[in-house]
Amino acid sequence: MHSIRTYEGEVFLCSSCGQPAYDEPGEMSLHFKEQWDGVFCSWFPSTGKLIKMDWDEMSLDGVKEQYPDTYPSFQTPVS
Ligand SMILES: [Zn+2]
Repeated sequence: MHSIRTYEGEVFLCSSCGQPAYDEPGEMSLHFKEQWDGVFCSWFPSTGKLIKMDWDEMSLDGVKEQYPDTYPSFQTPVS
């Protein structure tokens, strides 16, 4: 499962939930790691049908940078 921050391939939208998703070659389509529990998709971690987006470069960069990260981090809290 890729991070949307660093994913270099084509970013699609999921037809089921409208959130970003990608196509894993030879496997199924997947949501991004950041969407851990923040995406209310009945298909998660897979996706509905992928919708091809006509991103311009600025908007895709913005999505990549600003997409909320709900993936749990397992760092030990500082006590
Ligand atoms: Zn979805």
